[in-house]
Amino acid sequence: MRPARLRSLSAAAVAVAALLATAAPAVQAAPARAAAAPDIPLANVKAHLTQLQSIATANGGNRAHGRTGYKASVDYVRAKLDAAGYTTTLQQFTSGGATGYNLIADWPGGDPNQVLMAGSHLDSVTSGAGINDNGSGSAAVLETALAVSRAQLAPDKHLRFAWWGAEELGLVGSKYYVNNLASTERAKLSGYLNFDMIGSPNAGYFVYDDDPVIEQTFKSYFAGLSVPTEIETEGDGRSDHAPFKSAGVPVGGLFTGASNTKSSAQAQKWGGTAGQAFDRCYHSSCDTTTNINDTALDRNSDAVAHAVWTLSAGTVTPPTGTVFSNATDVAVPDNGAAVTSSVAVTGRTGNAPATLKAAVDIKHTYRGDLVVDLLAPDGTAYRLKNSSSSDSADNVIATYTVNASAETANGTWKLQVRDVAAQDTGYIDSWQLTF
Ligand SMILES: [Zn+2]
Repeated sequence: MRPARLRSLSAAAVAVAALLATAAPAVQAAPARAAAAPDIPLANVKAHLTQLQSIATANGGNRAHGRTGYKASVDYVRAKLDAAGYTTTLQQFTSGGATGYNLIADWPGGDPNQVLMAGSHLDSVTSGAGINDNGSGSAAVLETALAVSRAQLAPDKHLRFAWWGAEELGLVGSKYYVNNLASTERAKLSGYLNFDMIGSPNAGYFVYDDDPVIEQTFKSYFAGLSVPTEIETEGDGRSDHAPFKSAGVPVGGLFTGASNTKSSAQAQKWGGTAGQAFDRCYHSSCDTTTNINDTALDRNSDAVAHAVWTLSAGTVTPPTGTVFSNATDVAVPDNGAAVTSSVAVTGRTGNAPATLKAAVDIKHTYRGDLVVDLLAPDGTAYRLKNSSSSDSADNVIATYTVNASAETANGTWKLQVRDVAAQDTGYIDSWQLTF
């Protein structure tokens, strides 16, 4: 999990941080006819963990990025998926001078314009086998994918599973995937579900609260088991869902706790030991197959399948509209003057809509530095994004909805970007307006 980076902005540049518009449309609640997911056999999930443990033992005790243990883990998971009828792809990237791999598996069928993804990182830290972090998530996602194949599930949405590399180095693999996905492909992602540490020995039951529909899907599942849940905070933004969220994709997931300490109130409702870490072997050599809570792993594995079955049922009717775009790169000077990129809108009648969509893709290494405006043909500015001293993440990849009904539609519209702090730079990669 990557720590947050804070920097002071000049007094003039500090402004309230708020994204003024919504990202891509949220996941729709599943139709009543969603088939019930099967039980995911705990024995199968644990069998995968045993394999990952043997791989680590045979490869210097870990499955870390750039080590033979990681590649062997990828090969193991991939062979299972190939045998089950998946179309698998190995996406290569480089980090720290070593080659990394993301494993992507597509289940045939479903609406290609509405893709539901579920993923987990497959790498460990160098100091241990990484069985809870994150063999548990990797094994549960794998066994869910195999259950889809056993059931020959034909979901309405297209299903894609992913195992990320180099998460422990700062979400490197998942970022690489999102950043290298064409914006048209990114727009097809209706949701991304993340599972990072779901078998903690002193388990808690935490649900991500990033998207209301996904959150409710998990909460209602656990409620059905009479297992209370809490909102996930410890790993907020520090796992592979973060790049997807930054790109405007609805995200969610589950977590059973890492180095935070279980409170007595939590021990009361979940069992286990108060005053002790949820996982005291977090990022250490004792994160082996003995470091797993079977009940938590079993319940969470079933919850993974429940969410995949439920959220892949039903599709939404995509909004129609005419798109005007510009993909010419425009450099944004560091802590300097504003720059613009233009699109010429023609053939429209009357005014622009009240729900004008502005999708932007701005590459930058500290997006808090950026102030982003949409300029109408008459020069009226609509603020899309303010600067923020605490937002250290990369890139502004988002879709904003603007009430532009006061503006004439035809004419030259401009995206204006200004970097208001020193040290980090970037460029406008592409943007588009949908009328
Ligand atoms: Zn992890």
